[in-house]
Amino acid sequence: MKNPIKALAGAVGRWNELRRMPLRLEFVLTDTCNLNCKGCTHYSPLAPKEFADLELMERNMEHLAAVCGDEVQSLYLIGGETLLYPQLIEVMEALRRHFPSRDLYIFTNGIALPKMDDRFWATASRLGFIIAITRYPIRFDYDAAIELCRSNGVRTEVFGDRSLADTFFKFALDPEKKQNPRLSHFKCYNRGCLSVVGDRLYPCSISGCVSHLNRATGTDFRHSQGDYLQIDRITSVKQIFNLRNKPVPFCGYCIQPARSVGYGPSRRDKFEWVNGQ
Ligand code: SF4
Ligand code: SF4
Repeated sequence: MKNPIKALAGAVGRWNELRRMPLRLEFVLTDTCNLNCKGCTHYSPLAPKEFADLELMERNMEHLAAVCGDEVQSLYLIGGETLLYPQLIEVMEALRRHFPSRDLYIFTNGIALPKMDDRFWATASRLGFIIAITRYPIRFDYDAAIELCRSNGVRTEVFGDRSLADTFFKFALDPEKKQNPRLSHFKCYNRGCLSVVGDRLYPCSISGCVSHLNRATGTDFRHSQGDYLQIDRITSVKQIFNLRNKPVPFCGYCIQPARSVGYGPSRRDKFEWVNGQ
């Protein structure tokens, strides 16, 4: 039997560790993607071909830089597939302008890297972007893609290797919203992935991008007060830490911990994201 004191000490330790995590912000540029992964945490298989408004993203960056520019450690341009964003150069320039000394990343599955032009590589190198590649179990030469980044003077990090066992998850949502928000939040694997979607800041993409699931499958996962911050009304970094560190009402939908599942293509079936099957 598990020692209850040890279990409590472990839980307190984990809670403190999560509270001390450096602040990171993710700017969602699009949820459209050139892969089609089952249970994607941005609901990309269901997402329409839409792209974030560049001017709005720049206003978000300007405001967030004023509020938390000194406290944020790293900022990510993210999708869907980030490299499909039509104004990628412009958004990279904007992010570096507003966060001149922070770590800036482009998240990608890597597939489009061989098609990127010289202007992209020169900009990524000059602005010091790091390309964070997630490996998927597909026929693609990731080592060649990493070498391509290096040969263009751009740093890379392998953000995750989804070809390994237990690296793909089902984040099931409970339509009845009967989960304990505190427990779900405590066990949450997505915690810390603060996501800028439109003019709002959400604690995670599961909540921030859920409109794709609702629109495509007729589910009705709703946001309520406290689920997000309106970016232009954020006045202190404390509000952002609170959004990250405390459960929000939406956590009541989340069945945690997420279950590890095998990687596979999406059938665009709502039960890839919803509890029930
Ligand atoms: S590559 Fe990433 S964003 Fe694209 S469908 Fe797969 S999990 Fe989603
Ligand atoms: S809503 Fe809460 S529990 Fe669900 S993924 Fe987001 S932070 Fe985690």
